[in-house]
Amino acid sequence: MNQPALIPALSTPSAAELERLDDAALHLRLHQQVEAAWQLCLGYHPALPRPAVWFDLRGKGAGQAHYVRRGLRFNPVLLRENRHAFLAEVVPHEMAHWLVHHLEGGPWMQPHGHEWKTVMVRLFGLKPRTTHSFDVSRSSPAPYCYRCECDRHYFSARRHGLARKGTKYRCRQCAQTLVYEGRVDI
Ligand SMILES: [Zn+2]
Ligand SMILES: [Zn+2]
Repeated sequence: MNQPALIPALSTPSAAELERLDDAALHLRLHQQVEAAWQLCLGYHPALPRPAVWFDLRGKGAGQAHYVRRGLRFNPVLLRENRHAFLAEVVPHEMAHWLVHHLEGGPWMQPHGHEWKTVMVRLFGLKPRTTHSFDVSRSSPAPYCYRCECDRHYFSARRHGLARKGTKYRCRQCAQTLVYEGRVDI
């Protein structure tokens, strides 16, 4: 049987429309999208607190739900370059984390586990993706994540290119050859 087609629950302006916004207007539009996503969640969980919003996330991540600071953080460099994806996907992604965290037992649930996936599909009408393919060369010098037994290691584009061509890199701790894992989480 075919999966039913997903219909996004939040509406998003066209990419062309978003391109015309300056930073202040873009941030305001993202605030409005967070508000709309939060309103949607209230229908399911009326006690959900309204998250604060910051644009202070650096590096490779697009967004982060920060439970201690009680809000959502977004990466302003990646936002500027991926406007439509931020409104259509990154905001619902982080709001789904925020919602799941506030459910009973939420803090002990897997970050991208069954509950989070269910919120993404059923509430937001989106595919539950956990990685992004944004160009992070301007927001992070080393966006490529490699793994060994003991740790994660981050490679620059140059080093990643060499590894792809066959250069082997080993972990200094465990001496294992590092294996490419992908770009980091949304
Ligand atoms: Zn290691
Ligand atoms: Zn996530």
